[in-house]
Amino acid sequence: MLDALLKTDPDIYKAILEETKRQEDGLELIASENYASEAVIAALGTVLTNKYAEGYPGKRYYGGCEFVDIAEELAIARAKQLFGADHANVQPHSGTQANLTAYFSVLKPGDKIVSLALDHGGHLSHGHPLNLAGRMFQIASMKVDPKTETINYDEAAALVEKEKPQMIVTGASNYSRAFDWKKFQEMAKSVGAYHLSDMAHYAGLIAAGVYPNPAPYANFVTSTTHKTLRGPRGGLILCQNELAANLDKMNFPGNQGGPLMHAIAAKAVCFKEALAPEFKDYQTKVLNNARALAKLLTNKGFRVVSGGTDCHLFSADLRAKNITGKEAEICLGKAGITVNKNMIPYDPQKAMVTSGIRIGTPAITTRGMGPKEMEMIASWIDEAIAAKNNDAKLRSIKEEVLKLCRQFPVYEQRIASMEALLSTSVA
Ligand code: PLP
Repeated sequence: MLDALLKTDPDIYKAILEETKRQEDGLELIASENYASEAVIAALGTVLTNKYAEGYPGKRYYGGCEFVDIAEELAIARAKQLFGADHANVQPHSGTQANLTAYFSVLKPGDKIVSLALDHGGHLSHGHPLNLAGRMFQIASMKVDPKTETINYDEAAALVEKEKPQMIVTGASNYSRAFDWKKFQEMAKSVGAYHLSDMAHYAGLIAAGVYPNPAPYANFVTSTTHKTLRGPRGGLILCQNELAANLDKMNFPGNQGGPLMHAIAAKAVCFKEALAPEFKDYQTKVLNNARALAKLLTNKGFRVVSGGTDCHLFSADLRAKNITGKEAEICLGKAGITVNKNMIPYDPQKAMVTSGIRIGTPAITTRGMGPKEMEMIASWIDEAIAAKNNDAKLRSIKEEVLKLCRQFPVYEQRIASMEALLSTSVA
């Protein structure tokens, strides 16, 4: 199969090979990224991409759907089992699309949503003015407490009481503490609003039982499948039975055409992996690694937002280190460590500069790294930031990073076979 790609399009083949090597040779600390398993990647690269299957299993608008129905039915059953949900729609192409579908299944333009502000951890699709959500709905933003940098539930309840929204959106892209989903459900009930929990970041931890599950306390639970859950890039919506018919209709034909059946098959594989007992062990290690890294960096003079973490990620406030998030992202990149700049609560810097970086441990934990490696990584982050203008030092850290990565291979065989094929074609 790879030989066909190489023959047809060597430029794309080489770009894929180089990206595979980049993922292999560097420390991936972007909290929303992970390494999908070979089984998930195998399902993605199949002829299921050829199939139109508008509709749902057993009720399609196209013939020949009997085998893709098997894939979608398995994905649905496993998603429901994993999170204890009444109903699952596994078709959303992305997390953003999952959110928009869920919003539009019960809201009308002009309705009001209460959600966490972007610079306080929320996501664009929770109501940023440039996102469709922000353009179609009124948004009232929650902010974290300036002192604790965590949600103040009394203030959130007061905001909900004042704004009387039609929906409360919880969940976040950059909030390291456990959400009290039940409290938000009570707030929603008190004003007759829907509660949508976007668990995209936490889904893997939730599946493994190491982070609170919102499913019992939300009308809708949306997610991506490619972050902690370690599946293919895509979206997922869970909901209560009584909301299911409207939700499915809003997904198709409301917001999408044909589902990506190769991605749905890969989601089924990912859910099966997440149901296995080893997944709990993996997610426990993800959490322990994040806590260890946050503590180690604190000991090196970094201020960790909210003082710690209950999940796979945390933000480091870099102001005491005299470096912006943007500069830190660049210098860590030169040292072979990939992070993303991120706003911290009440950040004086703009979104393209920021005072912080977000750090996550799902990918390095997938490689098998543990407490000893967290110590090495914390030291390299500290050293690289101190040497932001010293390219020679950053290069030497990169060499050390590479040595560590070689001890924890992830796509080694894939790279070897791609390189072997390329060398025979060049010869
Ligand atoms: N929801 C949350 C909480 C996210 O963090 C993200 C992505 O980072 C999304 C939704 C959007 O997912 P996608 O990039 O698949 O649209």
